[in-house]
Amino acid sequence: MNSWAQRLDALPRLGLVETPTPLEPSRRQSRLWFKRDDLIAAGFGGNKVRALDLVVADARRLGADTLVTGAGPLSNHVRATAAVASLSGLACRAVYWGAPPQRVQGNHRLAALFGAEIHFTGESDRASVDAAFELKARETTARDGTPYIIPRGGACPLAALAHLRAVQETLAQCAARGVALGCVAMAVGGGATLAGWWLGAALLGASWRIDAFSVSRPAAEARMRARRLAQEAADIIGARAPLDDVELRLFDDVIGAGYGLPSQEGAQAIRDMARAESILLDPVYTGKAMAGWLARRAHGGRAARGDSLFLHTGGAPALFTDASQEDA
Ligand SMILES: *Cc1c(COP(=O)(O)O)cnc(C)c1O
Repeated sequence: MNSWAQRLDALPRLGLVETPTPLEPSRRQSRLWFKRDDLIAAGFGGNKVRALDLVVADARRLGADTLVTGAGPLSNHVRATAAVASLSGLACRAVYWGAPPQRVQGNHRLAALFGAEIHFTGESDRASVDAAFELKARETTARDGTPYIIPRGGACPLAALAHLRAVQETLAQCAARGVALGCVAMAVGGGATLAGWWLGAALLGASWRIDAFSVSRPAAEARMRARRLAQEAADIIGARAPLDDVELRLFDDVIGAGYGLPSQEGAQAIRDMARAESILLDPVYTGKAMAGWLARRAHGGRAARGDSLFLHTGGAPALFTDASQEDA
């Protein structure tokens, strides 16, 4: 085994995520596969729970007793952090941008249910949560607690390393089933998931192309953020990653009216996948990514060199909010 893989294996984990998550064939389309990180059992699952398995293990290693994090009230990351905190005996102090909504729904509701202490910044600016982290951390220290700050949306190098493990996992599953992947598609938010898959493809010499769909930032910015996270993740495990060897297409034309605002194309993809595959995509991330990907496959054809994989990163709680137009 190469040494970066040993260092990756040696990183502490909580062990909350049962791996491998299923690799399932599409029921309707040949040569299409789903990697079901949405089926992770802990805390309603999704890519954020996979990431937190490493991130929160690091918090515990450092003696923290309180997780401080934040994002918008739709955030899967905050819900996942609240769940993982309670599962591992830590407190969670969560900061949302904006003002408290009229109705407590979806992930916000689940985060409260998991016992997170929730604070709103009152400002619509997303960066307003970052300033609040320091304040929450200082408050925690003043109460004799030990805070651990997880960056907004969970975008940090350890999260990317958790997703690098998902790449190892997927390659092993593909080898066992005789599947050769030509293309991997995913939604991109803070960029840690893409960073891990990009790094994994580079380090493991996977020959697939990555089609990544930003749901919040312009493509160039999303690429830069993912590259930086991939580089920082590689540094932690002492790996030299030939990131430029990986073919990565990053699109931002699925954002529509904005982050967290449903698009018609996304809603259509959600309906189609629910009815054809009994797979629940979400209006914020995976629905938009699937819509963008299906449109490109229809126009440009599939990656001719192999099968395709859609990374299902979760997000179903958003279906139970006003942010979803799924009553159509
Ligand atoms: C956060 C999230 C993503 C994007 O992951 P990042 O690592 O933030 O880029 C995709 N899908 C769902 C459901 C998410 O919650």
